[in-house]
Amino acid sequence: MYSVCAFIAVSYAALWLCDVWPHADYWLTYTGTAKLVILHWVVCMLVVSFYLAVNTPPGFVPRGWVPPTATQKQLDAAKEEARKGKRFIVASAVRYCLTCGTYKPPRAYHCSNCSACVLRLDHHCQWINNCVGYANYKYFLLFIFYAAIGCAWLFCMHIAAFYTLIVHGNGFGTPTDAVGFLRIILHIVDTVILIAITIGLVSLCVWQMSILFENVTTVEHREKNYLKKENKDAVWKYDIGKMENISSVMGHSYIEWFVPTPPPKGTGMEYKTRDTHEPTLASDGLKCSHIKIEIDSDDDYDSQVQKTV
Ligand SMILES: [Zn+2]
Ligand SMILES: [Zn+2]
Repeated sequence: MYSVCAFIAVSYAALWLCDVWPHADYWLTYTGTAKLVILHWVVCMLVVSFYLAVNTPPGFVPRGWVPPTATQKQLDAAKEEARKGKRFIVASAVRYCLTCGTYKPPRAYHCSNCSACVLRLDHHCQWINNCVGYANYKYFLLFIFYAAIGCAWLFCMHIAAFYTLIVHGNGFGTPTDAVGFLRIILHIVDTVILIAITIGLVSLCVWQMSILFENVTTVEHREKNYLKKENKDAVWKYDIGKMENISSVMGHSYIEWFVPTPPPKGTGMEYKTRDTHEPTLASDGLKCSHIKIEIDSDDDYDSQVQKTV
């Protein structure tokens, strides 16, 4: 988390010292000022979304929660599956967490970092030192979205400044004086860091958007792949149409999608499905009753996902 803060501070300093200051004449034109305003909007959204993603709890399963519609037989079977350390994707209509000693609502998984079951768990993110779950998923998405735009933009500006230096010899003011030398050092350091971070952020952003369009979390993506392997015609139960998938996380108006306003109201315990378009407590996300696939227990499963994110 602190490394993200430090990176934002260094990049913002590099923007003013290396790009804006040496070319003040350009930035004072209408075009230059408009670009600077848009860039600061991006930075502002990035910082606010980051703050909210870090400080908003992801939403935890209340201790002692029991699915209200489950039968005693289902509750006992869920405990037995948890003890065995295995569960069946389709058969696990009711799931139990041995660590928390509670049943899990649909789309909730145990996070070993937080030592709790998290609602609509996506993954535990080291960058924000928090779980990404039901309540802060929108803030996390906006954070990586604006971070990817900001980094890509700044990277292009740095490359343009290098080009000006090489071609015209004056990209950093007077490179031979002390200030010019410090600008070059800051510029090179920030550009090298930006190459790796921009590639990582843009890839992560594209990946997160693709699973948002399908209403799948990073954790659930693996389950969906298992299902598709068995039956390519199978459909994901929570995929209720691209627009509604996005709206269910980002909000119901286009403006809300791009600003860190609170996500749509809900409990995080029930979700609309393809069949009913009504919230449901059924927890098997897969609409394909004849397939029974055995996978690892949730605890192992979550930690495997966390290693890859
Ligand atoms: Zn748990
Ligand atoms: Zn966590």
